[in-house]
Amino acid sequence: AWTALFEGPLAHVKITRLIVTHSHPDHVGLAGWIVERFNCPLHMSQVEYLQSVYHQNRGTEERRNAQRLFFRRHGMDESLTDKLLGRGQDYLKRVSILPPGYRRISHGDEVSIGTRRFKVITGGGHALDQVMLYCAADKLFLSADQVLSKISPNVSVWAVEPDQNSLGEYLASLASLTTTLPYDVIVLPGHGVPFYGLKTRIKQLADHHEERCRLIADACRTISKTSKELVPVVFHKHVLDVHQMGFAAGELIAHVNYMLVEGRLKGEEADGVLRFRTT
Ligand SMILES: [Zn+2]
Repeated sequence: AWTALFEGPLAHVKITRLIVTHSHPDHVGLAGWIVERFNCPLHMSQVEYLQSVYHQNRGTEERRNAQRLFFRRHGMDESLTDKLLGRGQDYLKRVSILPPGYRRISHGDEVSIGTRRFKVITGGGHALDQVMLYCAADKLFLSADQVLSKISPNVSVWAVEPDQNSLGEYLASLASLTTTLPYDVIVLPGHGVPFYGLKTRIKQLADHHEERCRLIADACRTISKTSKELVPVVFHKHVLDVHQMGFAAGELIAHVNYMLVEGRLKGEEADGVLRFRTT
């Protein structure tokens, strides 16, 4: 698809710089290939560049073991853990080698793209320090994966930072977008078509997570449950394949960690397995 674009509509455009919003493979995956093809610099936030380096080197036995213990602690049995760890092994086959260097962009920076000036906004939750771009003059907001129109961006917790409050970070970023951006921006998201109604969409996303928290609180009121046992409580509408189950588990743990921080759940550990109870 990229080759068709570069040789078609973009054939007379000089690519002078590549700005990558975050470290997920569907965003940074071809950065090495594009940078080499156009001999241009790569611009990313420091955290996202370093996170990409981490992703390209995380397939070690030690890290897989840490993830195995993490899943076990959240109540997943051996055979499910095996299946979950079996997925994602082709990460390196699907991405090009990351450029060995980059130029840093940070929250609050101003960057020029063509004739426009954009302010760099970064936010956590979906990725660690995802870059979004806002052009006040034309009310353009490039939201990356932070605000999408059709799907709720994945907000997960993994073994590398087991107590991370990803959902808290995500909700804080949404709240700050609501207060800093005007109502009538056009949103250009990382997936799907452009849309208006940023604040409405942000409210829907925040409500969606609150609804999940309520389901978890109800389920843990009379009996304590593991994250594994809570997955079908929250994802009751779907039959999950292994790939989806991995993301569902990561998402579920993000909600549980958030509720622990907020004092809505209490955790208890027995035989190396965590169980949660509503306070
Ligand atoms: Zn993403």
